[in-house]
Amino acid sequence: MHLLIMGPQGVGKGTQAVRLGQHYGIQNISTGDIFRYNIKRQTELGKKVKAVIDAGELVTDELTGELVRDVLCLENAREGFILDGYPRNHNQVIDLDATLDEFSLKLDAAISLTADREELVERMLKRAEIEGRDDDTPDAINKRLEIYDTQTAPLVNHYRTRGLLLSVDGIGSVEDITNRIIKELDAFV
Ligand code: AMP
Repeated sequence: MHLLIMGPQGVGKGTQAVRLGQHYGIQNISTGDIFRYNIKRQTELGKKVKAVIDAGELVTDELTGELVRDVLCLENAREGFILDGYPRNHNQVIDLDATLDEFSLKLDAAISLTADREELVERMLKRAEIEGRDDDTPDAINKRLEIYDTQTAPLVNHYRTRGLLLSVDGIGSVEDITNRIIKELDAFV
């Protein structure tokens, strides 16, 4: 199963991506997690991206695309993956297509998790209290939602046009949502 999952910040796509990865026995590739890991370890990449991420802005397409390519070129990508948080804009869709072509990989579905805005902001503020992420300040949260609306949300239509879109309601308990996605995905692919 070769999947990607999209959704505005706070919709729970990271949590669902991990659970779907476990269910299907495929690797979970979260660009946000890879960046955070590098920031924590203070690697060269981490130092390069910290300020951008803390401000809620996007890391450059080049850096992010290279990072995804480095993961997808590995042999186990063939067995399946779920990409979480990539692509995030039109350029990244083009880069991803090129990388998938290069390694003869094909997407089976693009999952879009949806929730209304009020619910999202509430969830993110809660997450800020629990996880204390540096980019969960009100300014950075607003910035990320704005970027999602202008750059990432249009990708939903793009994948719909390709016949790959699976839109799933992201409201409910974590377990209910996982079961909902699995049921709809199994019927879809
Ligand atoms: P996330 O955990 O997906 O919310 O990502 C956290 C932050 O990492 C984002 O706000 C961006 O600064 C950066 N990031 C993650 N994925 C991407 C991407 N595909 N393109 C650019 N920046 C990204």
